[in-house]
Amino acid sequence: MDYGTMDEFGKHMENCPECKEELSIRFLVTEGMKHLEDGGEFNLQKELDRRLDENSRNLQRHSAMIASGRYLVTTLFVFIGMMLILFFG
Ligand SMILES: [Zn+2]
Repeated sequence: MDYGTMDEFGKHMENCPECKEELSIRFLVTEGMKHLEDGGEFNLQKELDRRLDENSRNLQRHSAMIASGRYLVTTLFVFIGMMLILFFG
């Protein structure tokens, strides 16, 4: 993602509740996965799947933004992971 795309993405996120919601759900899914790996039992996964389905239907016109967001979130998690390894590894 170049700087222009990043800037555009940021501005869109500030003004678009739908994309914000989509990204926050993705974050929750990632968090939920971590808890699942811990062996915890809960029905959150099902609920999140349902919400993601619902949401993506409303997000056709935002698909480019969401694609950028996916990349951004992935980058962010890789970055956080690296930080954790650096500090605690
Ligand atoms: Zn949007």
